[in-house]
Amino acid sequence: MLPDIEKLLELQVADKEIRRLQDEVAALPKRVAVIEQKLAGTKAQLEKAQSAAKGDETNRKKFEANIKDLQARISKYRDQSLDVKTNEQYKALLHEIQFAEQEIRLNEDRILEVMVNVEAREKQVKAAEAELKAETAEIEKEKEDARKVTAEDQKKLSEWNAKRDGLRQGISEDILRHYERVAKFRGTGLAEVRDHKCMGCQVMLRPQTYNEVRNGEKVMICESCSRVYYYNPANEVKPEQEVVTVTGRKRARPKADAPQAWFYRPDYGEEGEVLLVYTNSGGNSTRRIYEMHTGRQVGGVLLREGTYRQAFPEDLTDAALRLNGHWDEKEIDEWGSEIPSDVLDLLHKDILAIRREHRAHKDHSTTPAEQTAAR
Ligand SMILES: [Zn+2]
Repeated sequence: MLPDIEKLLELQVADKEIRRLQDEVAALPKRVAVIEQKLAGTKAQLEKAQSAAKGDETNRKKFEANIKDLQARISKYRDQSLDVKTNEQYKALLHEIQFAEQEIRLNEDRILEVMVNVEAREKQVKAAEAELKAETAEIEKEKEDARKVTAEDQKKLSEWNAKRDGLRQGISEDILRHYERVAKFRGTGLAEVRDHKCMGCQVMLRPQTYNEVRNGEKVMICESCSRVYYYNPANEVKPEQEVVTVTGRKRARPKADAPQAWFYRPDYGEEGEVLLVYTNSGGNSTRRIYEMHTGRQVGGVLLREGTYRQAFPEDLTDAALRLNGHWDEKEIDEWGSEIPSDVLDLLHKDILAIRREHRAHKDHSTTPAEQTAAR
């Protein structure tokens, strides 16, 4: 791997960590603010309960004062009743006394109501006070935690920033500038190339580009997403592992329902040994034929209605061997009249693997069903 790319990979790690730390530092005050808001709500609730309790107290005093007034009035009526001359006057005073007594009972009822209310209010105030206390403690702890984490994060940030500065200095200026510009817009400035694909934007690489990236002789940039390519052989699915039966290892089986299917025919008319590739697409299928040893295309692309199994039954004889392999239709078009040598190598290896497997099957006298399953 190019030293610049190696350093860019390290820089990417540093950039990611710096961003994570910055986000964390920014998020902490927000968390504290949420609890503070809750705390303000509880405080308002407590104040409301307290002022309601105060209102009850005022009401109770008012009703008690009313009762005192009424009692005073009654004793005044009683005094007057001693001096009345007529029966009518006496009756009128008695009526006034009865009315005042009734009023006293009404006020007493109200006082009782208030007393019942006071109990409920006291409970409300106590609950709000307890909640406030708990939330105050919580917020103090949160704030303390936030202070600690922020301090730790700041320390880590300055370490990462120093590391980042060091890394940046070791990278060619042009590449660094490109990387940072793409990273700013796309979140990442590097993209791994794996299985012929840009992992940043999923675009397939042209075989030549792919080989250049693998060779790692110069910095290459994705034409589609502008990220700087890197290649890690450890992450690549090795074709040999995928296709060939290494001693004791089974060859991968091609999927029966795959939209693209490669076949080998040893006996294809005048051409002899050929490779055939079929593609199902939108109710039609296409066929391309290549000479097996050179990879040169024989004839043009033939399009027929239906899936390839329905459309080209005459091709799929018992001698046809189903191969592993899938390439993007666009890529196959780009090959032109010849299969690229790396692709051809893979197909040849698969043919060898099938033959080896068949031999092994015969040696171990397996069932014919298993042999045909390989087709
Ligand atoms: Zn890309």
